[in-house]
Order: sequence, then structure tokens, then C-alpha cells
Amino acid sequence: MSLRDQVEAHLPGVLADLTDLVAVESVSADPSRTAEVERSAQRVVQLLADSGCPDIRVVRANGGAPAVIGRFPAPEGTPTVCLYAHHDVQPEGDLNGWRTPPFAATERDGRLYGRGIADDKGGFAVHLAALRAFGGRPPVGVTVFVEGEEEVGSPTLAQLLEQHHDELAADVFVITDSTNWAVGEPAFTTSLRGLAGFTLEVRTLDHGLHSGVYGGVVPDALTTLCRLLATLHDDHGNVAVAGLGTVPAPALDYPPARLREESGILDGVEWIGTGSLVERMWCKPSISVIALDATRVDQASNTLLPVARAKISARLAPGDDAATALTALTNHVNDHVPWGARVTVSGVEVGESSVIDFAGPYAEAARAAFAQAWAAEPVFIGQGGTIPMVAEFNDSFPNATILVTAVADPDSRAHGSNESLHLGDFAAACLAETLMLNAFAQIA
Ligand SMILES: [Zn+2]
Repeated sequence: MSLRDQVEAHLPGVLADLTDLVAVESVSADPSRTAEVERSAQRVVQLLADSGCPDIRVVRANGGAPAVIGRFPAPEGTPTVCLYAHHDVQPEGDLNGWRTPPFAATERDGRLYGRGIADDKGGFAVHLAALRAFGGRPPVGVTVFVEGEEEVGSPTLAQLLEQHHDELAADVFVITDSTNWAVGEPAFTTSLRGLAGFTLEVRTLDHGLHSGVYGGVVPDALTTLCRLLATLHDDHGNVAVAGLGTVPAPALDYPPARLREESGILDGVEWIGTGSLVERMWCKPSISVIALDATRVDQASNTLLPVARAKISARLAPGDDAATALTALTNHVNDHVPWGARVTVSGVEVGESSVIDFAGPYAEAARAAFAQAWAAEPVFIGQGGTIPMVAEFNDSFPNATILVTAVADPDSRAHGSNESLHLGDFAAACLAETLMLNAFAQIA
């Protein structure tokens, strides 16, 4: 049987196992469901065992969530490939937003719906499909590494990579946790933006004051905060913070109609920023105000507010160092706070960006395998989002080839309600990975 036929023969079983895995509510952000995260790690162990993996263990660092490492030793003279995915998922959010129960995988119109089905249990299922297509005897060494805390920012990943460096070491890392360019069009992700977030507090008074008596001379904290927030962008909506970098954009046309459809932007509302759409989304920084603390409208009185807070989320250009960017942001805030108000920055969080060099014989073989499996040339894309673990892999294994692949497509709604997997794309991803491992065996 050809590899293509093998993949096809194993698909129904893999999809059944994916459905079982989705039923485990492995929400890593929810302390009441840590037992579910443990249970999903155990399911991953079982599925690897069912796929012929001879060496499996559950590992964790510093009380972090359980990760699973499964190893297939490399046949003489062949490289080792580490296949990454994560078994934890985002919270399901408001159940009213779901058309079908989030933890009961349901097929509708060629897509399978469920929390984590694309991000990233589907990524793990691709690895299972490839291993099964080879009857549990892959032609190269394979290490499967399935993390359990990606959705909470991989807090102990650096330690895991250090403690298990030798077991995880590989010639190629395949990180199946990104998004394809479109249904039917695969992508390799070659850049990711970084993240710098913080909470900004502005204080003008030590207690609220009558707005009639003192208004006009005493600044209220919320107006002061709004004026400060307004300095973060220029009139076009470009980030106006000195010291944040940008990188050149790929010549890729993101159709504005597609962005309109995907984003649900309201009629008449304009895009912000300048440059091509992919430049703005992947290559330049962005700053968003994601939360605000002030008096609720229904509890308002005619009072000058003494304090107001905003939570800021900045995305950083690929290659920009997160700590340096954070300093630029806090310097900007301190330099631009109006009227001598007190400003404090707290709750800092950062995630490193990545620039992935797609080059060398493994990358070339992967490109060819994907083109064959999908019958479409892969597209090289950036991501506006941040996957800090890609930077961790890059740092820990600087000489390895890193390939960031995907099962999700732009309609997958990872992290949102009605998350889904396109079944045709899933089959293509399974075949692509299988052909790719086969091709790697020819590279000494
Ligand atoms: Zn993910």
C-alpha cells in the first residue's frame, strides 16, 4: 500500500481518537480542571502507545502541567525529528456562543467542531496519523513532544527543554500549532510577533471630588488616562512609541474583503495604520487597550475620579526584543502623562517574537512534501499573534531546522466559540507530514 493509501486507511481511526481527546476538558487556565489536564496527558500516552511508541513518559517541571515525551529511536544513519503539539486547550467561554457542545466533537458541512479540535489536539492527531501510516515504525527517529500548558503561556517550557534537552534534541522540529493560509492552501509560518502587556494606573487625586465645585481646574483621572492613551497612536492609527521596531513585509496580498469578512469590522469603519495589510498585521507593532477600570456608568455620580486604570496589550515586530520594547513603552508613558499626573505600570507580561529561517535540505524537502500532499504550493506567512514557545525552541536548539505548520485555517476560530477543523485540510496535513518524514529519511 502506498503511503497515501496508508494515511487514508488510518484517518477514520485518528478522527475517532481526536473526538475522544476533545471530550477531555483539558483547560489549563482553569484550576478546577487540573485533573482533566492530567487525564488528557494520560490519553496522549495511551494514543502514542496504541501507535507503537516504545518509549513514553510524562514529564513536568516545577509543578507545571504534565507534558508527554514519546520516542521512536532513529534507524541507523537517519535524522531525528521532534513533532510538537499541545494537549491543553483554551477555556470554552460562554456556552451560548456555541452551536454544538464544545467538548463533544460534532461534524457539520465538512468541518469538525469542538474546543481544541484545531488548537491543538488536531496538531497532535496529525502526528498520530503519520506514525500510524508507517505502522509505528517511522523511517526516521521521531520524538513526539506534547505540552500541557501552551494556552497559559508555557510557564515551565524553558525548564522542560533544559531538563530533557538530550531526549528532545533533534535535527528538525515540527511545531504544528499555527494557521494555514486558506482552506486548501498550506502555510509555513516564518515570523511571529512578540507581546508586551502591562497595566497602567493614573492618579490625580487621593479622593473623589465634586465635579461642579472643582471641575475646570482639577483634572480627573479618567480624562487624564484617555489623553495618555491617545498618545500611543498617530492620527492614522500607527503606533507612535519611539524605540519599537518594524521589519520588511513579504509581498503577499491579504485581500481586504477577506479581512473584512474574517474580522467582522462594521461597515464604514476604516482600517488603522499604514502599509500593506500583512505589514500592519505581521511586521509592525500594534497597541490595543484591552480593559479599563473606572466607575461603571450605572453607578456614576458627578465626581472627579481620583484613579483610573487601563490594561495595554502591545504586539511587537518579529525580532524586537520584548524587554527592550517594554522599556520603550514605559518610557513613552512616563514622558507623555499629561498634567503631572502620577502614573504607575504593573502586571507586566512579555512573550518573545520569532524569526524562523526557512532554509536547508529539511526545509526544502518539507516544502516539496507539502506541495505534493496539498496539490498547492505552500505559502510563507507571518503571524500577528505570539507563540513564545517557538522562541524557546529556537533558543534551546539553535542549529535545528524549525518548521511551523498547521491544521487550522482562517475559519477555525481557535480560542473562539465554534472552533473547528476542516476535514479535507486535516487529511492533507496528515499526508504532508507522512511524506515529509519519508523524505527526511533520504537526507543524511
Ligand atoms: Zn495552540
